[in-house]
Amino acid sequence: AKSAGRSQIRYFNNEMRKKLKQQADIENDLQNGIKNGEFELYYQPIFTLARPRVVSFESLVRWHHPKNGLVTPDDFIPIAEQTGQIIELDLHLLELAAKQVAQWQSIGISDISLTVNVSSRHFASLEFVDQIANLYRAYDLHQGALSLEITESGLIENLNLATKVIHGLSPFGVKLYLDDFGTGYSALGYLHQLPIHILKIDKSFIQQLTDQDNPLVDAILSLAKSLDLEVVAEGIETAKQFQTLSGKACQYGQGFLISHPLQADQALAFLQSEQVK
Ligand code: C2E
Ligand code: CA
Ligand code: CA
Ligand code: CA
Repeated sequence: AKSAGRSQIRYFNNEMRKKLKQQADIENDLQNGIKNGEFELYYQPIFTLARPRVVSFESLVRWHHPKNGLVTPDDFIPIAEQTGQIIELDLHLLELAAKQVAQWQSIGISDISLTVNVSSRHFASLEFVDQIANLYRAYDLHQGALSLEITESGLIENLNLATKVIHGLSPFGVKLYLDDFGTGYSALGYLHQLPIHILKIDKSFIQQLTDQDNPLVDAILSLAKSLDLEVVAEGIETAKQFQTLSGKACQYGQGFLISHPLQADQALAFLQSEQVK
């Protein structure tokens, strides 16, 4: 039994060493990745449900890792949050998004906006308003060109600072999307205190809209209505889900049924093909 215990300890030590090594590698790789421009934003259409028409795109990051190929965010965002690199990464991605809208603006597409996912740790920081203001100035962005998606847990933990930040952002027309709504805190008291604009119903709720209604979706929609908030349903994959939602008071949708996240040139083509329809 003693030797089994010892070999277990050895096993744990090895595992731990491997984990630490992996983490250190990713930390290192993230740093280089930012420097070497290995991150690319993809853009997924957000559309009106009444008449499927794109109103904005959500920017979603992909990492062209030199050794591991195309890496999706769930494999590195949580680590970047742990190491604190998320702030630098967020800033880098905000700048990529700003550049993209500016480029679209330069070819006459001025009514489209991008939503950018931002870690709440970064959002609820004193520098954040200045950083956004700098981007609007540097890229001469139109009002509302960039909007932000944040999850509710981070907002609630930093309610005072978050409220200040949201007010500071309002001159730029930055809209605030509350991401993954319904999956985090159930305390709703903060909702009418915060100047939030849009709720995004988490895709786990939308995916349950198969043969029957999901009462939670109805509850979120009526809550939003009474608080005068707009709603995006994310993760719409089937025509059935689309129909169910458009029969309700849900303004916007997003999901593979209409489009996967697209590279910038494809996103532009998507917009242009829609304009000739
Ligand atoms: P999220 O913000 O909730 O993003 C929605 C995720 O759902 C995206 O995964 C998107 O590709 C996926 N999706 C969209 N439509 C459908 C659908 O119809 N069905 C299904 N099954 N999935 C759909 P993705 O791109 O892998 O991103 C995962 C998460 O990583 C995001 O969740 C977000 O929390 C984070 N993330 C992505 N990009 C960024 C970024 O630029 N910055 C930060 N801080 N986080 C990001
Ligand atoms: Ca999001
Ligand atoms: Ca989401
Ligand atoms: Ca999510």
